[in-house]
Amino acid sequence: MAPSARDRLVRTVVVIEDEQPIAQAVAARLRSEGFAVDIAADGPSGVALCARTRPDLVVLDLMLPGLDGIEVCKRIQNEWPVPVLMLTARDSEADLLVGLAVGADDYMTKPFSMRELIARVHALMRRAERSAEPVQPVVRIGDVELDATTRRVRVDGELVHLTPIEFDLVHYLAARPGRVSTREELLAQVWGYDVPSGARTVDSHIRTIRRKLGSSIVRTVHGVGYAIEEAHACA
Ligand code: CA
Repeated sequence: MAPSARDRLVRTVVVIEDEQPIAQAVAARLRSEGFAVDIAADGPSGVALCARTRPDLVVLDLMLPGLDGIEVCKRIQNEWPVPVLMLTARDSEADLLVGLAVGADDYMTKPFSMRELIARVHALMRRAERSAEPVQPVVRIGDVELDATTRRVRVDGELVHLTPIEFDLVHYLAARPGRVSTREELLAQVWGYDVPSGARTVDSHIRTIRRKLGSSIVRTVHGVGYAIEEAHACA
């Protein structure tokens, strides 16, 4: 598989933390969740690392050598929007308010549980991806037209009924033309929770969508997931 396709599948997290045991533990846990992780041990190298890697999320310690977390947060948020989960050793409300006012999306006070951290990382990424979705009221995929406003689907001009989850699934893929989405991503983003039967649920919905909209609408990328290759926003 081409490196670019792989890169787009793996979410990247930058951890900026000067306490090495914490940085390593956080990185190890994030990697075990499938994220690519880079670590910086001080403020300036953290800013430089973010500029270079353009991560999907930043875990940022408040008290850092060089530049503190507040300044780091300001600088990286000035460049481009990225969710920031701030870590603080101090539990005072002042820290919390200052941290939130500079653009951190969430905060955790040390010591924290890794489970909690992972839950918050996933939640922040979901929120960021939802808000980053382009506003494309009408999207055309070949002879299929999706209208996000009315939630209507037409094939060759004829209305076709999709269930809400089928519509959301097609719309999610169409909003990211050419990008492969894993079943796990689709479960998290479209269903929004863990479905007991997991991957099979996604597969059966894709089958139904193909039956209704045509077999070529969604491409299967074996061992990875699904993609809609070409979708165009309509004026
Ligand atoms: Ca620190």
